[in-house]
Amino acid sequence: MIPAWLRGFQAGRLTSRPVGVLGVALVVGALTIALGAVPVGGGTGHAARNAGAVALTFDDGLNGDYTLGVARALEARGAAGTFFVVGHTLAEQPEVARALVAHGHLLANHSSDHEKPSALDPLYRKLADGQAQFAATVGQCPRFYRAPHGVYTALSWLAVGRAGVQVVNWDVEVRDWDATDPKELAQRVLAKVEPGSIVLLHDGRDGKPGRDRTVLVQAMPLILDGLQARGLRAVRLDELLGTPGTLERCP
Ligand SMILES: [Zn+2]
Repeated sequence: MIPAWLRGFQAGRLTSRPVGVLGVALVVGALTIALGAVPVGGGTGHAARNAGAVALTFDDGLNGDYTLGVARALEARGAAGTFFVVGHTLAEQPEVARALVAHGHLLANHSSDHEKPSALDPLYRKLADGQAQFAATVGQCPRFYRAPHGVYTALSWLAVGRAGVQVVNWDVEVRDWDATDPKELAQRVLAKVEPGSIVLLHDGRDGKPGRDRTVLVQAMPLILDGLQARGLRAVRLDELLGTPGTLERCP
């Protein structure tokens, strides 16, 4: 006996239920893959150009003594930084996260791991997973978010909206991870920085512990002195942008 849906198909009607369900599933699947794979731009790249300050931001930690070395260099000159932390490092180095907060630095979300958004994770749970890791470690959730590798998709933007976070990117990027000379690294930053700039630096690499960031730590005083010579203070992102740096409550 020919099933009812096949009879419908044979008769040229495309609305029989199994065919319709299959069609919808195929369309949803294709859209998910498309939306999950296409990079989408946006986010804050700098503050007003008449600002007397810049924000130095540090991605890819926590990274132990390198993260703390960057923080100490900032503190020695009365400055503060914003650390875009890879979530899984919070459980591994909670004392580093708490030291940053205690010394007046700002923590921000750099996802729970350092992978690009995957079409196989259309809800992009890694942002919310990261927030949960901040809540568990320091009792608060960051307001600022920056995607690993700076890659956003239509679906990860939906996750940004659900999480109530603000995407903050950068306008100064100097490939600091391949620098071998602190003085030359400082010159790279100072050649590009402008009032209101958001500077991307890396106190870690991909959230992997122990990556050597000595050159950055040694460049920090030179960068800060150069900024000061131009009348620019290094402040946290919340101060530069005039918005709170943490959410009122964790979602
Ligand atoms: Zn990163």
